[in-house]
Amino acid sequence: MRTQNSLLQDLRQALPQLRSQIYFKASLTALSHAMEDLVLSGTDKPLVIANFQQERFYRQEAPRYQKIGEITDQVYVLAAPETAFNEGSVSYMTVALSPDDQLAQEWHLVIVGHHYSACLVCREHAAPISTPSLDEVRQFQGFWTFDPEITVQAARLLLERIVDYRPELAPKVRLAEQEYGLTQSSLPTQTSSEIDPNLFVDRMVNYLQASQYRLLNAYRTIASQEQKERLVNSIATAIRRSLNPEQILSVTVSELGQVFRLGRCLLHRDQSDCPEVEYESVAPGLESLRGQVWSLASHPLFQKTLEQPQVETSDSERTIAIADVSQDLGIQSDADLKAQLQRYQIGSCLMVPIRYRSNLLGLLELHQPDAHIWKADEVALVETISAQVAVALMQAQAYSRLEVLNHQLADLERTQSNLIAIVGHELRTPLSTIQVCLESLATEPDMPLNFQQIMLETALEDSERLRKLVQDFLTLSRLESGATRWFVEPISFQECLDLVLSRYASSSDQPHIGLDIPSQLPLVLVDGDGLIEVLSKLLDNACKFTPADGKIMISARIPEPDLADSKLEVVIADTGRGIESSRLEAVFDRFSQEEGFLQRTVGGTGLGLAICRRTIEAMNGTIWAESMGKNLGSEFHFTVGVA
Ligand code: ADP
Repeated sequence: MRTQNSLLQDLRQALPQLRSQIYFKASLTALSHAMEDLVLSGTDKPLVIANFQQERFYRQEAPRYQKIGEITDQVYVLAAPETAFNEGSVSYMTVALSPDDQLAQEWHLVIVGHHYSACLVCREHAAPISTPSLDEVRQFQGFWTFDPEITVQAARLLLERIVDYRPELAPKVRLAEQEYGLTQSSLPTQTSSEIDPNLFVDRMVNYLQASQYRLLNAYRTIASQEQKERLVNSIATAIRRSLNPEQILSVTVSELGQVFRLGRCLLHRDQSDCPEVEYESVAPGLESLRGQVWSLASHPLFQKTLEQPQVETSDSERTIAIADVSQDLGIQSDADLKAQLQRYQIGSCLMVPIRYRSNLLGLLELHQPDAHIWKADEVALVETISAQVAVALMQAQAYSRLEVLNHQLADLERTQSNLIAIVGHELRTPLSTIQVCLESLATEPDMPLNFQQIMLETALEDSERLRKLVQDFLTLSRLESGATRWFVEPISFQECLDLVLSRYASSSDQPHIGLDIPSQLPLVLVDGDGLIEVLSKLLDNACKFTPADGKIMISARIPEPDLADSKLEVVIADTGRGIESSRLEAVFDRFSQEEGFLQRTVGGTGLGLAICRRTIEAMNGTIWAESMGKNLGSEFHFTVGVA
C-alpha cells in the first residue's frame, strides 16, 4: 500500500533530535538555489531529489533541473500535477504526486553526493495573517542541514515513495542506493567538510538580496498603485460629493500635483471668456502660471505639439506626451515658445484633453522641470482622471441647467397662482358691483333720480376698470409675442406729457403733481402711443401708492450733448409708500404685487410695470426703480432716445 505520510513527520520519528523552525518562502528559495548551485558548480555527480509541492512551482525551476539533469543521471523531481505534469524519464525522472498525498504540501531538496550531502525538508505552514497576494511571505516549517545522516535518512524515505509511485524505477533506485551508500547496512562515508562554506554563503546571500530586491519592487509597485487608486478615489469622492465644478477641478489639480510632485499641473477649461490659468498645483521652486494667459485656443505649446507626431492612446484620445522639449524640433524652432518654456522651467510635458463624447471641455496639462519619459501607467492615470472630470463637468452642467429650469418652473407656478388670484379678484369685484347696481336699477323703478345717477356712474366706472384689465392682458400678450407694431418717430416729449396730465384734474383727493421739465427739450425718438402708455401707468401708480397729501414730481434730464448715444432720462418720483430694495427689480415681473390681493387697498393687476418695461425696451431704452425703502417714496426712471 502507498504511504501518504508527511516526510517531515516520518523523519522526526526516525530522528527525534531534529529541531524544526519557521522559514519564509524567500529564504527557502535562496537556500534551495544555493544548494542546487553546489551541484551545478561542483564536480560530484550526486543523487538529487526535489519535491516542489505543486506543478506551478516546479515550472519556474524546470530550466535549472534541465541543467542538473545534464550533470547527474540520478535526479528525481516530484510535484502534484496541475496541468501537464506527469511521469517521465528523460533527463530526469518525474513523479506526479497524488493531490491527497501529504508530500503535496511539502518542499524537499535532498542532495547526496560522494563528497557532500545537504537536505531541506519543510512543510507549508499557515501564515498568522492571510496575505494570499504575496507569494514571498508564505511560511514553511521544517529544517535544512548538511548532516549526512539526516540527509541519507531523508533520501531513503523519499526513494521508497518514488518506487511506490513508479515501481518500474526500482532498479534505478537500487543503483542509487548502492552508489550513494543508502542501503541499511552501509553508512554514509562522506562528510560535509568538502563544501566551500564561503561560496555557499555568498550565493545564498546573493539569492536573498535578489529576492529582497524583488520584494522591494513589489512594494513600490503596490505603493504607487495604492497612491494612484487613492487619487482616483478622492477625485471620484469629490465628484460624488459636489456638483460644483470649481471644487471638482481644484481637487483634481491638487491631487494630481501630489502624484507628480516635481512639476506643475494645470487645468484649463475650454472657455474663451476665461483664458487665464485658474487651476494649478505647482512644486516649490517653480514659478506659478496662475492668472497667466495660457489658454487652450492661444496655447502655443498645444498648437505647436498638434503639428508634431502624436502619441495616440488606446482610446484614441489626443494625448500629447513630450519627453524632452529640448529635443522637439517644432518647439525649438519657435524662439518665443522656447523662451517661454525656459522661463517656466518646462523640460517635458503631458497634455490630456478633457472630452465628453466629441466635446472638448478642457485640458489637463502636466509639466516636469527636466526631461521625463511619460510611462504608460502615468498616461493611463491622467487619462482616467480626465475622463472622470469630463463626466463630473457634464453632471454639474446638467445640474445647473436643471436648477435654472426649476427656478423657471417655480416662477411660472407663482405667476400662475398670482394670475388666478388677481384675475379672480379684479374680475369679480367690478362684476359684482355692476350686477348690484343694474339689479337695483331694474327692481326699484321708484329710486330717486340722483341715486339712479350714482348707480349708473358706479357701474360705468367698474366696467371701465374691467376694460382696462382686458386691455392690459391684450397689450402684454401682444408685447410678449412680438406682435406689437411700433411707429418710432421724432415727437415732442412735452406734448405727450401734456396729453397724459390732461386726464389728471387737480383735486384734493390725489397728491399734487409737480413738473420740472426743461423748456428746450430735444424731440424724442419713440412710438407716441407707447410713451403715453408708460407715462400714464407710472403716473397712475404714483397716485395710487401716494397719500393725497403727498407729492409727485415729474422731471426730465437733457442728454449730454457730447456723449454718443446719450438719452433723455425721465423720472417720476413720489413721496408714497416706497419699495423695499429687494423688490426693486421684482416689481417689473408680471403679476408682481407687494401685498396679497385680499389685503389690497387699491386695484391693480400687476401688469402695468411689466408692460412699461417691455415698451421702453422695445424703444431701446431702459427702465428701473429706485427707493430709499418702505414709506420713503419711490422713483421710476426711464430713458428714451433723442432725434
Ligand atoms: P399694479 O396693477 O399692482 O399697480 P404694476 O405692475 O403697475 O401693477 O405694479 C406692480 C407693483 O409695484 C405694485 O403692486 C406695487 O407693489 C409696486 N409699485 C408700483 N409703483 C409703485 C409706486 N409708485 N410706489 C410704490 N410701489 C409701487
